[in-house]
Amino acid sequence: MNYDVSHIKDTYKQKGMRRSLVRKLVEKGISNKKVLDAIGKVPRHVFFDEIFLEHAYQDKAFPIAEGQTISQPYTVAFQTELLNISEGHNVLEIGTGSGYQCCILLEVGANVVTIEYKERLSLIAQKQLGILGYNPTYIIGDGSLGNDQYAPYDAIIVTAGAPTVPQALISQLKVGGKLVIPVGDDKVQKMLRITRVTDSKLSQEEFHNFSFVPLLGKQGWRK
Ligand code: SAM
Repeated sequence: MNYDVSHIKDTYKQKGMRRSLVRKLVEKGISNKKVLDAIGKVPRHVFFDEIFLEHAYQDKAFPIAEGQTISQPYTVAFQTELLNISEGHNVLEIGTGSGYQCCILLEVGANVVTIEYKERLSLIAQKQLGILGYNPTYIIGDGSLGNDQYAPYDAIIVTAGAPTVPQALISQLKVGGKLVIPVGDDKVQKMLRITRVTDSKLSQEEFHNFSFVPLLGKQGWRK
């Protein structure tokens, strides 16, 4: 794959395909305007090799390097909507992957710290997001432990499937903060939203099932 995206132009055709992707997400129940505007703005095709461009605006996950995936647009929109982000919120993303979800978080107004386990993926994302003009804080390491340095967070999003909810992530949430995380086995996970209501009280909501690559690391699947 050619990881230099400067040659991939955002054409009228691609803008049109993004508009129809947004319409599809509305039909599937996404209603937050900031999230829909972000999906309509971020050029997802730059995360695809030129020979796979036709897949970029289909509502599906797609393979990237290192056996990982760029998440399905619906999943990105759904998780972002659940986070309820306001301008300037301090947001931790676990699983930088391609960097696409990170761009959406930045577009809805978050300050983003993004952690990726696989160094090569983080370096590719850093280069591509730099070309697109996005500037989050990157960390290479085990995101199942969160990151104390920039805690506490208004929101934490986990973009890989966890066996259980990592306690480290709960401890790094502000009062009022939300953790959105898929939890289950290696095939199917339920999307959970955990809110720190007070210092000592949490609430948990459950949404429908998704299928993510596994969260690795000490509080993940330990690979
Ligand atoms: N957010 C990504 C995007 O928009 O492309 C999708 C990421 S992909 C579904 C999940 C990512 O989580 C993979 O890149 C994987 O390497 C990463 N990952 C898995 N376990 C991790 C961990 N403990 N810490 C950080 N990243 C992890």
